[in-house]
Amino acid sequence: MADTTTGSTVDTHCPYCSLQCGMRLRAPESRRGSRRGPEVETWPEFPTNRGGLCRKGWSSVELLGHRERLTTPLARDPDTGELAPTDWDDALDRVATALRTTQETHGRDAVGLFGGGGLTNEKAYALGKFARVALRTSAIDYNGRWCMSSAATAGQLAFGLDRGLPFPLADLAETNLLVLVGSNLSETMPPAARHLTTLLDRGRPLIVIDPRRTPTAERATLHLQLVPGTDLALAHGIVHSLLAQGYVDQDFVERRTTGFDDVRRLVASYWPEHVERITGVAAPDITRAARMIGEASTAMVLTARGAEQHATGTDNVLAWINVALAAGHAGRTYAGYGCLTGQGNGQGGREHGQKADQLPGYRRIDDEDARRHVAAVWGVDPDTIPGPGRSAYEMLDALGTDDGVRSLLVFGSNPIVSAPNASHVAERLDALDFLCVADFVLSETAARADVVLPVTQWAEETGTLTNLEGRVILRRKAVDPPAGVRSDLDVLAALSERLGPGGGLIGTDPEEVFAELGRASAGGPADYSGVDYDRITREQGVFWPCPAPDHPGTPRLFLDRFATPDGRARFHAVDHRGPAEPPCADYPLHLTTGRILAHYQSGAQTRRVRELAEAAPEKFVELHPMTAERLDIYDTQRVRITTRRAATIAPARLSPHVRPDTVFMPFHWVGANLLTNDALDPRSRMPEFKVCAARVEPA
Ligand code: SF4
Repeated sequence: MADTTTGSTVDTHCPYCSLQCGMRLRAPESRRGSRRGPEVETWPEFPTNRGGLCRKGWSSVELLGHRERLTTPLARDPDTGELAPTDWDDALDRVATALRTTQETHGRDAVGLFGGGGLTNEKAYALGKFARVALRTSAIDYNGRWCMSSAATAGQLAFGLDRGLPFPLADLAETNLLVLVGSNLSETMPPAARHLTTLLDRGRPLIVIDPRRTPTAERATLHLQLVPGTDLALAHGIVHSLLAQGYVDQDFVERRTTGFDDVRRLVASYWPEHVERITGVAAPDITRAARMIGEASTAMVLTARGAEQHATGTDNVLAWINVALAAGHAGRTYAGYGCLTGQGNGQGGREHGQKADQLPGYRRIDDEDARRHVAAVWGVDPDTIPGPGRSAYEMLDALGTDDGVRSLLVFGSNPIVSAPNASHVAERLDALDFLCVADFVLSETAARADVVLPVTQWAEETGTLTNLEGRVILRRKAVDPPAGVRSDLDVLAALSERLGPGGGLIGTDPEEVFAELGRASAGGPADYSGVDYDRITREQGVFWPCPAPDHPGTPRLFLDRFATPDGRARFHAVDHRGPAEPPCADYPLHLTTGRILAHYQSGAQTRRVRELAEAAPEKFVELHPMTAERLDIYDTQRVRITTRRAATIAPARLSPHVRPDTVFMPFHWVGANLLTNDALDPRSRMPEFKVCAARVEPA
């Protein structure tokens, strides 16, 4: 599969976000003494981004051959306490011995796995199989739990199926109204923003709902700058106003939905002036938003982390789905609800088994038929497959305790930076008997490990990912990895051999693993059984479900029926509760967190890319000039920001674009998540990253 011929190009994909932009990597011309790496070129034919890339994509090759690249396994020396180089056999033996000892002493569930939403489908599948068959532990979850799980849960409740966008991304340009809730699309996915340009050029309106006046909100026809944590009340206010103005699509509601009467009764008390007092959004703007939604012949309502990362995240999304359903904007071309997935394989990563409650094909692990089907593919007795385990944060919260995980394997994640209440998570990691991290740089989490395994990264390996549209794409190997590193699949295969199930349990050829994944997914909600590498290449991606080789794939879902047993979408009457931690005298401000253009997730990759590090070298606290004046703070001054969990220091950045009652911090550095609240959504187990109470003062 590798194409490392000098001067040749390989069609592949960006290592970062869920857009998974297509790009070409050109191998360098061979010159004596040349140390140049591959160069990025556009891939104009790839439909999702049509050649567009953001600066992260353009600079991504710097990660290949980076000077901080790990190329030797590391093991902690018991005498010095330092990580020291070792060889692969020693490192793998140490890991296998630690896992075996832990399970013999404390039981099977005392060994845990923590995966990532950036891992390929093949790796996510192999991690789930390794956990359930080689280790027979229920303790497996992943950082995608902190990304899209509220939208996923809500999508399943309302439509019977979760696929981020139930339509191709290009449909955004064709709808007649776009509502973005808690999404800063222009900054986080610049190549996707061209659809906003087309939409606006067609004279169609854009509504943006966000506590900050982001670059996306700047482009909006109407920006509703709500108080953080009040999305649900705002959505109810809009449904109330749709009813009051006669914009509810009665025919659609009667034919294709259930449950509207309960919502009608619930929203009766959410009249605009009342909602204004909760959300800070002016009542006339709520009425106007409802009118725009009601009058549009087609509209899309898309949520992102701003609405989803709350202890009420599932209910928030359900409330926005209510808006779309009430106006009849679902189940039709160029209309519907969707979630703008964040992580590179946020979609595929939540479908194939690295989630605590799940088996491949988006099957539930507590479903007897699903267990029988997957057990047959794996060649095991269904009764040996463990039941559901703890969600990501709950697993981390219990590390090192009597009934928690005592030895942990981490793949493709850096929870010390990305978990909420991160200093607590660091304490729990330190309480482990054994920690192994597989990564390609020494991330903050890897630096605390007992054993670090250096693994391949994006363009050094082949694998599939499923982008935010539900399009299964193939990220091809374009360069050979440095000597000394192995793929995650190799690592899992080697460990399963050492642990007893024997060779062959985990395949090391990604194409063969994908074929097995297809068989395991067959008949499930996310059915990949009609997809193969050749077909992905020929068709530039295949939309799931695709249950047979001659099936065309499914770019648009729900056109005839929703995926519920009766084919109808479900309204949900969910009441507004507000943030888990409202401001008070000691912590009078709302803290909200998010991404910025130059960086991605925990920053373990992008902070190591010189161009990106220079563009955004450190964290900051964004606050409104009026707030700064009241607190006697000037621009660039170092300030201390404190919440009930921790404090951190960063320069102030004054901006009129944030609400005066709110401060913003990007989460790509150690700092923001020391402060965030670990209150969990009761259904999705999503932590409340997006709002907590904070105090800011000169440092
Ligand atoms: Fe990569 Fe996302 Fe930027 Fe595209 S938008 S180049 S996938 S980071």
